[in-house]
Amino acid sequence: MKNRILVTGGAGFIGSHLCERLLNEGNEVICMDNYFTGAKSNVVHLMDNPYFELIRHDVTHPYFVEVDQIYNLACPASPVHYQYNSIKTIKTSVMGAINMLGLAKRIKARVLQASTSEVYGDPLVHPQKEDYWGNVNPIGIRSCYDEGKRCAESLFVNYHEQNNVDIRIIRIFNTYGPRMNPNDGRVVSNFIVQALKGEDITIFGDGKQTRSFQYVDDLVEGMIRMMNTEDFIGPVNIGNPNEFTMLELANAVIELTNSQSKIVYLPLPADDPLQRQPDISLAKEKLNNWEPNIQLKEGLTKTIEYFDNLLKSSNT
Ligand code: NAD
Ligand code: UDP
Repeated sequence: MKNRILVTGGAGFIGSHLCERLLNEGNEVICMDNYFTGAKSNVVHLMDNPYFELIRHDVTHPYFVEVDQIYNLACPASPVHYQYNSIKTIKTSVMGAINMLGLAKRIKARVLQASTSEVYGDPLVHPQKEDYWGNVNPIGIRSCYDEGKRCAESLFVNYHEQNNVDIRIIRIFNTYGPRMNPNDGRVVSNFIVQALKGEDITIFGDGKQTRSFQYVDDLVEGMIRMMNTEDFIGPVNIGNPNEFTMLELANAVIELTNSQSKIVYLPLPADDPLQRQPDISLAKEKLNNWEPNIQLKEGLTKTIEYFDNLLKSSNT
């Protein structure tokens, strides 16, 4: 047995892949989730493993357990879900961080925060490096998520400085793959589900805004390397620097699904960032040459297969 590890938000999209990988590496995993956006079905295949434990718990309440490492992922991640109950989103980021840092302090565990490229807001610097402070509207519709995550970063750094807590911070850029929630409104899941159902593909705005999409396996590799690296607390960007417009993404999905869907243009939501691309030179330098290996078409193909099976099984 290597480590006993707590993963908050472990029944979500990224968390479920992380739990799986940590178990495969011989660790004991405690997966904590309140099932707001995650589901037991994401981790049901891990239930037979005697070293896996699933706990229903809300990270805004203190949690007591003895572990070596904590990955703090609990937080809704898609705009639709984090805006559904914006106050709860802030509480989850801020009180969740306080609870996990307090736990880490007491039991002397190492704790990693899943922060986000959203701390850069609608960036005025391109690509984004870790030393960029960001351009966030503190009272806009995305602020419950962006400012919650920024406050969590601040808490992490302050617990480190003041209480010597062993922290790690990663800033995750748009990540996709199997087990994304089909209803969470994120662009990759929306486009794939729409294309598979033959429905209109909804581009918000003119489709020229960009994002850089990372396949989930590349993220999990970067996360685990960051957790286990010595003498470097971050923050570090973990993302795929290949940047695409939403129009390019829509066309790639249409091509790969062979869909007859048409593209329609809907209004752009407020404060929607125009562009986003990680500078990953720090990750390469500090994380043993980490870089993403799975490019868009390969990752989309795997994700399309997942959603295709999901839609077929829900129709039967
Ligand atoms: P997700 O919504 O699938 O997973 C989040 C998980 O947290 C869900 O299982 C949800 O039920 C759980 N959760 C939410 N509130 C909770 C609470 N109060 N107590 C306990 N559990 C709670 O989203 P994801 O994409 O897997 O994101 C995981 C983490 O990675 C989040 O912290 C998110 O901010 C971060 N992140 C994700 C992306 C991305 O592109 N997917 C990008 C940047 C950062
Ligand atoms: N988007 C879109 N159509 C959709 C969903 C999203 O054009 O059906 C756009 C959205 O406006 C944004 C980009 O896709 O510009 C990425 O959105 P997502 O919610 O996936 O992530 P985020 O904006 O948080 O990076």
